Amino acid sequence: MTTTRRPTLERIRALRGRLYWPYLGVFLAFHLLLPLAFVPQLFSWTGLLLVPVGNFVFGSMGVNVGYHRLLTHRSFKCPTWLERTFVILGVCSLESGPGHWVAVHRKHHQHSDEEPDPHSPLVGFLWGHVGWLVVKSPATSGLFFHDKYARDVFADPFYSGLHRNLMWFWVWVAHASLFFPGGVLVGLAMGWSWPEAAWFGGSLLVWGVLVRTVYVWHITWAVNSLSHLWGYRNYDTGEHSTNNWFVALLTNGEGWHNNHHAAPRAASHGHRWWELDLTYQALVLLRRLGLVWDVVAPKVAEARVIHRGPHRPRRSGRDSALPSSTPSPDAMQDGDES
Ligand SMILES: [Zn+2]
Ligand SMILES: [Zn+2]
Repeated sequence: MTTTRRPTLERIRALRGRLYWPYLGVFLAFHLLLPLAFVPQLFSWTGLLLVPVGNFVFGSMGVNVGYHRLLTHRSFKCPTWLERTFVILGVCSLESGPGHWVAVHRKHHQHSDEEPDPHSPLVGFLWGHVGWLVVKSPATSGLFFHDKYARDVFADPFYSGLHRNLMWFWVWVAHASLFFPGGVLVGLAMGWSWPEAAWFGGSLLVWGVLVRTVYVWHITWAVNSLSHLWGYRNYDTGEHSTNNWFVALLTNGEGWHNNHHAAPRAASHGHRWWELDLTYQALVLLRRLGLVWDVVAPKVAEARVIHRGPHRPRRSGRDSALPSSTPSPDAMQDGDES
């Protein structure tokens, strides 16, 4: 396995002219606005509660389920209206449109921790966490890239429409704009004065949108950075993915990343009884309700299991994570549907 080289000073200098300001500007603006959360009038317990609730709704159901397990890996089936609901929730996490997200992630699975992995932290922690997002990269943009890695997603007019004219960004703006007036209306309904209701609306905007969006960014990025650097491995996957309990706890399951690289199509990322995957538990509930079906179960070749004891595993290649409509058709066969 070849690993990505650490950047030299020359490489870092070369990056200067290649900063991608639309993303960098938004990231900087959001982080600079974070101190608003410490303004006493802009704090409410309801606002604070909206961070974990928003993480579950927009992060776990939107990004984990909609963007990742459904659109990228087709880990289960569901009605079209529900698929699009998941994806719109994902859009509200401001992590680019679904087609682009899927293309980047499939490329990561295909080239994990080797050139041209878009975000290997072996280059450097900061690069794998967020640096790769703020540098222009012809290798992860453009029609050819999207067609190669996410043709199936862009073929759907609903998803290509979200990509066109940055519609995904405007959907995020629309959802964000509901929090302040929603809070004011609730405050007035409770019989509070206009200023009290306005501060409450502000707290929902600051905590429910600003803090939650930044929080979901960082825990998503932590899967790319922390879960390729620190943690334990259940499987010999041919790259550096790890199971990181801290990331798994924050992301409701995505941190069991070595398991995920071993069985990319599996709907469950927790493979041992104690590897809690709340995102998968939500899918189990939805399956009981008849809303999802053909849920792909983990299936990893015995040769890849890392045994703790005298038996040593044989080294083997990695599975691809691409659906059959993309260049690598074997990825749809790494698990059983149940
Ligand atoms: Zn990975
Ligand atoms: Zn994946």
